[in-house]
Amino acid sequence: MFLFHDVKDPSSSPGLSEPPGPAGFQERAQSIEAQQVRLLYTQAPIGLVASVLNAGIAAFVLWNAVAHPVLIGWFTLIVVVTLSRFMLVRMYRRAAPTADCIHLWRTRFIAGVAAASVVWGAAGIVLFPPESIAHQVFLVFILGGMAAGAIATLSSVMPAFLVFFLPTLLPVTLRLLLQQGDWVLTAMGFLLLSFAGVLFITARHLHTSIAESLSLRLENLDLIHSLSVGKEQTEHANQQLAESNQALSAAMAEVRASEERFRSLSAASPIGVFQTDAEGRCVYTNARWQEIAGLAPEESLGDGWNRSIHPEDRDGVLAEWLTSTRAGREFSCEFRMLTPKGEGRWVHSRAAALRADSGALLGHVGTVEDITERRAVELMKDEFVSVVSHELRTPLTSIHGALGLLAGGLLGPLPEKGQRLLDIAVNNTNHLVRLVNDILDVERMKSGKITMQKQVCDAAALMTQAADEMRVVAEKARITLAISPQSAQVWADPDRIVQTLTNLLSNAIKFSLPGAAVRLSTESQGEQILFQVKDQGRGIPADKLESIFGRFQQVDSSDSRKKGGTGLGLTICRNIIQQHGGRIWVESTLGKGSTFFFTLPALPR
Ligand code: ADP
Repeated sequence: MFLFHDVKDPSSSPGLSEPPGPAGFQERAQSIEAQQVRLLYTQAPIGLVASVLNAGIAAFVLWNAVAHPVLIGWFTLIVVVTLSRFMLVRMYRRAAPTADCIHLWRTRFIAGVAAASVVWGAAGIVLFPPESIAHQVFLVFILGGMAAGAIATLSSVMPAFLVFFLPTLLPVTLRLLLQQGDWVLTAMGFLLLSFAGVLFITARHLHTSIAESLSLRLENLDLIHSLSVGKEQTEHANQQLAESNQALSAAMAEVRASEERFRSLSAASPIGVFQTDAEGRCVYTNARWQEIAGLAPEESLGDGWNRSIHPEDRDGVLAEWLTSTRAGREFSCEFRMLTPKGEGRWVHSRAAALRADSGALLGHVGTVEDITERRAVELMKDEFVSVVSHELRTPLTSIHGALGLLAGGLLGPLPEKGQRLLDIAVNNTNHLVRLVNDILDVERMKSGKITMQKQVCDAAALMTQAADEMRVVAEKARITLAISPQSAQVWADPDRIVQTLTNLLSNAIKFSLPGAAVRLSTESQGEQILFQVKDQGRGIPADKLESIFGRFQQVDSSDSRKKGGTGLGLTICRNIIQQHGGRIWVESTLGKGSTFFFTLPALPR
């Protein structure tokens, strides 16, 4: 159906780039045949007009040489056959047949040609004038001319040509060859024979050229089709390329803008910023970081940061870094940094892990804040508090003692109102004494004046001692104290551990409602012993879980008044546990209770 393809329809035909398969060859042959048949029908009118014209001329010329009825009969037959063939051509044009039914039209056409050739061939016998040589030559000339003309109109389909050519020339040729006695006619017969041979060869050549040119045309159409498909595909690809180019430039502009934003933020940041790779080597530091460390940009990369930590703090920082990264928590540490010129600065550094979607560690990002001034103020404040506490301690103790004696009835019974006031004064001085003692404890621990008297102790014994000390308080608050003592050897200062446990138990009792239970237990975890103090009290909000270990930090500011605390107990506990190389933390659910954990190094059995 190639020849019926619209060249602009890219989907209707395979391109030249793909050679046609067996089905393609068959389709191509069918198309060529359809074109050949179409040529037959389009050129037929010329042949038909020539046929009637030649028949008319023949009838006119032979009018006096042939019997009239024969001539008229023959001419009538020619006209009838020619008209029928005209009708067939008209039908073909109207039907505009597809290649599928082209065989039928080819057969119809050949049948028409056969009918015409029979009538023309008959002329060689019935119109052959026996007497006049001139008329005989004329008849041979007419028939030869008709056969020659058929080359132009019929050679596109060889069977059509042969069906016309052979019956038209054969009778007259035989007549000439078989004519006896007249060698001119015999010579004419041979001439006609050779002429027929030439005609046949010419028709074959023409047929081959027509077929080739049709095939070439088909290939051209295929080529044009492939080119147009290719052009369309290229245009489409170009358009897609232009669109992705546009998207890429927009994305790049956005990346550039965000990079610019990051640079200006990082450059102007009052806090030092750094980034490390998975091995802990610095890959980025901002200007502030370099200023704090006193290092040039290139010096700050790689292991430069390690050298900028004060030698006395280096081990502590590295230990904290390793502990926090192994535990998968944020690194947070206060330490001193030392510039190459020897200027020291206190900093607070925090860092968090950077992870890929797969969970693999990519590195860390962190900040370094200069807290030198804050530390100096805190130091002054601590010193002030410590001096004040020292100064207060002695008079307070004697006031507390004197008030206690008075309230105990040393000077006899007091009026009820006086007794009540005295009880309040005793309570408050009691709180003050505890506060002053705690402050001094914290201060002494921080300044390293208190050292832990470590020895081998049994965890179960420490727990029992602490529980015994708190039993009366628990009973008063109607709290059940449950302990599961488990024997395990720890390397610790027993007084300080009991102090820690009693503080945790006292808090647990204080913040639980009557009827609740407080549990104290231990668990061996390889190289360390884990202590747990679990209550069913009010719980601690998530944002306070860390801050309550700070000085004077309480979940509720009214806690000290209502519950009688100082806000220093957990600070002291953390100090004690840290000095033992352990860790203390809390987990809690609001309204359900809290569990305080701390670890101590275990002694190998
Ligand atoms: P305090 O002397 O005030 O108890 P601590 O340092 O021991 O000081 O505790 C700090 C604060 O932590 C408490 O005031 C309280 O708000 C909170 N807290 C401590 N333990 C518990 C607990 N078991 N349940 C609820 N809150 C607690």
